[in-house]
Amino acid sequence: AIDKFTAKNPQSAAALERARAVLPGGNTRSSLWSAPFPLCIASGEGCRIRDVDGNTYVDFLGEFTAGIFGHSSPILARALADAHARGINLSSHTPYEVELAERLVARFPSMDRVRFANSGTEATIMAITAARLTTGRERIIAFEGGYHGGVATFIPGADRVNAPYQFDVLPFDDLTAVQAAFAHDPQIAAVLVEPMQGAGGCRVASTAFLAGLRSLCDSHGAVLIFDEVQTARMAEGGMQARLGITPDMTTVGKFFGGGLAFGAFGGRASIMDRFDPARPDALAHAGTFNNNSLTMATGVAAIDHYLTPAALEALFERGETFRGRLNAAFGASGLPFEATGLGSIMNIHARLETADSSAALRRLLQFGMMAKGQYFAARGLIALSLAIGDAEIEGFFTALTEVLAD
Ligand code: PMP
Repeated sequence: AIDKFTAKNPQSAAALERARAVLPGGNTRSSLWSAPFPLCIASGEGCRIRDVDGNTYVDFLGEFTAGIFGHSSPILARALADAHARGINLSSHTPYEVELAERLVARFPSMDRVRFANSGTEATIMAITAARLTTGRERIIAFEGGYHGGVATFIPGADRVNAPYQFDVLPFDDLTAVQAAFAHDPQIAAVLVEPMQGAGGCRVASTAFLAGLRSLCDSHGAVLIFDEVQTARMAEGGMQARLGITPDMTTVGKFFGGGLAFGAFGGRASIMDRFDPARPDALAHAGTFNNNSLTMATGVAAIDHYLTPAALEALFERGETFRGRLNAAFGASGLPFEATGLGSIMNIHARLETADSSAALRRLLQFGMMAKGQYFAARGLIALSLAIGDAEIEGFFTALTEVLAD
């Protein structure tokens, strides 16, 4: 499989060799690495992408969940161009930021106020910072398998490159462990959790766990932070609305910038209003591009045209059906694969005896699917975009049946 892949992709291999001279390992985004070399993608249109060798794929990865719109949307292109024509880097407040803020605050039950940043990573770090400074406490509970950005990664095997915060990393979905931590430690400022762990393999938190975190944070005066950078797409108001569990703070990112670099953190007025710069005890949060008009305007267009409640609900249902079909195909094949996830975000796992053999089997499946023009992450992540149609879904399952039979 590797030999076939290498033979098909000489230009991608050459692109990596060239990049190695100036980027460490030819890479500036660790999650994109996969052996023997990642594809170098030159362009995309709708739900299709084309690599530098001219091979085309149906894009079932959707930019690791950020690419919910598909590629080259004329509506987003117009919003971006209009904003650009009115000047970029305007050196002050603009009419755009309030438009985007009003939309996010209206959507998320936990958000009385919101602030913008340039990535989900930054948004999460700012949410943690706000929790620590408003509670006057030090420590943050996070969970094994959690991913909150390049500086807050708790996935086993991934090297930790953590911000200078004190994290207590507890087992995921284990309320007893959190109870014990609160019982012994009065310094817990916040609990930081993804309602579904995304990069950790699409592991869905139980409702009882999240509800338990809500009541533990209430009784101990700690801040509950939902990282909804991925799960915000599950409903108009994200997983918090779906579950009816309202955190104190929420972080979002990815698609809410309409495809441009984006992150946001929001929450209770009592926490967020500490960022009011006119206050004597104001917390500072600067950032040259926090309110850049290109992202703000494109995000507004994205919400109004694409991220409607009906569209998100339909995408959720489509994903549930897709994951069900995946598991049915795996079951029929007798091979030890399983897909986990929620709605339009899912992860394929292989269940063999060792982690290495499981990873190798999953990779074999992914190589087989790539050879048939179906693109998803080497680590098994699939994120359906709004651009994928029924015909592409049927094409995926035809290919899958053939690859499993092989
Ligand atoms: N939190 C979660 C749950 C994420 O999935 C990600 C990105 N994959 C982040 C935070 C970080 O966002 P960004 O990559 O924009 O920094």
